[in-house]
Amino acid sequence: MKRNILYAAILLLFVTISCTDQDDQSPKLTEDFNRERLKTAEIDAGNLSSARLSGDIEGFMSTANEALISQNLQLSAIEAYAADGEGIVVYFNNRGNKQLSADFVPGDPRRGGFLDIAYARDGTEGATSSGLSQGDTDAAVLSAMSTWDGVTCSDGLIITNLGASNFDLGYVEALVTNGVEGSFFFTDIMHSGFNTTVTDAIYGPGSNVLGVTFTFIWLDDDGNPSDIDNNGKDDVAFRDIYYNDEFSWAIGNHIDVETVALHEAGHGLSQAHFGTLFQTESNGEFHFAPRAVMNAGYTGIQTSIKRTDRAGHCSNWSMWPNN
Ligand SMILES: [Zn+2]
Repeated sequence: MKRNILYAAILLLFVTISCTDQDDQSPKLTEDFNRERLKTAEIDAGNLSSARLSGDIEGFMSTANEALISQNLQLSAIEAYAADGEGIVVYFNNRGNKQLSADFVPGDPRRGGFLDIAYARDGTEGATSSGLSQGDTDAAVLSAMSTWDGVTCSDGLIITNLGASNFDLGYVEALVTNGVEGSFFFTDIMHSGFNTTVTDAIYGPGSNVLGVTFTFIWLDDDGNPSDIDNNGKDDVAFRDIYYNDEFSWAIGNHIDVETVALHEAGHGLSQAHFGTLFQTESNGEFHFAPRAVMNAGYTGIQTSIKRTDRAGHCSNWSMWPNN
């Protein structure tokens, strides 16, 4: 009899531990996560604390780059996606080259020699302030990635899903916290989750930045941006994407996760902002012309690729991996 009680107690303990382990994560996704494509570049980012939280973006970049030079890495671009109609990155005119001045190199040995583009998602950070679990936001991010994957001009482009991490993904997150949050791992494109750490560090608390994409490039041995495929563009090491958890996020409603993820993934795939913002005098509302996923501001749900988005994507990827 005593033995049965002991067994029952052990079983109860085991079940309790098992359930506790699975509280925050989706076991299926984490079991499938492919770590083989992760690279690491750990740096001492302690001196970034003085640059962050001040809204001094240039100061942050130069301080980060002083620390990154030892890894032949540089932060070359920070692109913000603004909430509608206020603050920074709202009035702009960018009708020229839709591509960034930095691009992935097919088969780049520094990225492991792969011809595909891999992406990873943070499996630990959902939009918790809006009551959305990681599973809720992750499904929207996955849908956005499959939308870009479905653009038919890029038959040669294979986009590989590495899965959702079972640790806090995010290189910039690690930079601005000196490794306390995020991690010094990277792969080609990272959806590094919802938090306030990164957007607050770069733009200050209460900014109008919904999402942000950081582009990192490789340096050559002389410390200059490299262009090993001689296409006139710096060679991308990886891109790191964040969503600002200070906003009220939703699925299929304002502010729609998939809409913002589709935009940020466009940056991940080397597209820049596009379109001009106008304000209608009679009602004060903002609108873009032409309307595109790659407009710099959020103006409503937009989960399909528009003509200019497709043109920009195809100009960049149609020849891949032979460009
Ligand atoms: Zn953007």
